[in-house]
Amino acid sequence: MNERHPMDKLLREDRIPHIWCSGCGLGTCLTAFITAIQESGIPLEQMCVVSGIGCTGRVAGYLNLDSFHTTHGRAIPFAAGLHLANPSLKVIVISGDGDLIAIGGNHFIHSARRNLDMTVVCVNNFNYGMTGGQGGPTTPLGSKTTTTPYGNFEFPFSIPYLAAASGAPYVARWTALDTRRLSKSLGEALHKRGFSVVEIISPCPTLFNRFNKQGTGLDVLKSYQQNAVIQHGADPAKVAIERDGKIIVGKFVDIERPTFLDMVKERLGDKFEIPWEKLERKEVTVPSADE
Ligand code: SF4
Repeated sequence: MNERHPMDKLLREDRIPHIWCSGCGLGTCLTAFITAIQESGIPLEQMCVVSGIGCTGRVAGYLNLDSFHTTHGRAIPFAAGLHLANPSLKVIVISGDGDLIAIGGNHFIHSARRNLDMTVVCVNNFNYGMTGGQGGPTTPLGSKTTTTPYGNFEFPFSIPYLAAASGAPYVARWTALDTRRLSKSLGEALHKRGFSVVEIISPCPTLFNRFNKQGTGLDVLKSYQQNAVIQHGADPAKVAIERDGKIIVGKFVDIERPTFLDMVKERLGDKFEIPWEKLERKEVTVPSADE
């Protein structure tokens, strides 16, 4: 009975059981993410995961990697600091639509514009789950949430369009049902130089799907099976999600663009240096919780 699950190594057992609701898509998203990490060949000690606040933001706490659970909307600037302080790190942000596209929206577009070398995974369930199912920046027109009981009147952001228009050189979208394609895409994003963005459409059966009478988590996955259409290379301007409409998924953008640090190095040449790289590194022993 001492059999270990192959993913146990990357999970913090002391944080389990997790807080996610039955039927939530976040467990599947985390599984796809761990699969991508395991298959990427990137040494675990070079990886660093940053989350913001919300149901998705819990990912950082569950992963047995160097990870940071930051303040609301500030996962990307925190990750930017990590990346610029130590460009050899593979910095990954994983957070939800409310955290990354609403309060963190400004950081999202400007980091894409600068082409900071990091991967951003946005789990989009169309509402603020953790705080009670309020409408957010990606809630489709007409959808019901606790703050839009008559149906949402605000035009939502389409994450791939926002990312591509802001300059992200890699943009993809999958649903939580497409686990294999999602893992492969996450792997590509991890190896992409520059600001790579993967959106995952995921069920929130406790709140968003319940308010919109879309059934259980399994029912929502079945709806993805019926409504998701793979269109690699689709124009990001034409992949907006409408209530009960088709969900266009695939890899929409995969181009080369100099990163922020490429531009700095090109401009400064030999003068470029990261001053803190000269600092003497000291081994620090972190005391255990028992000490
Ligand atoms: Fe998942 Fe929604 Fe529950 Fe949050 S509230 S854990 S997103 S089902």
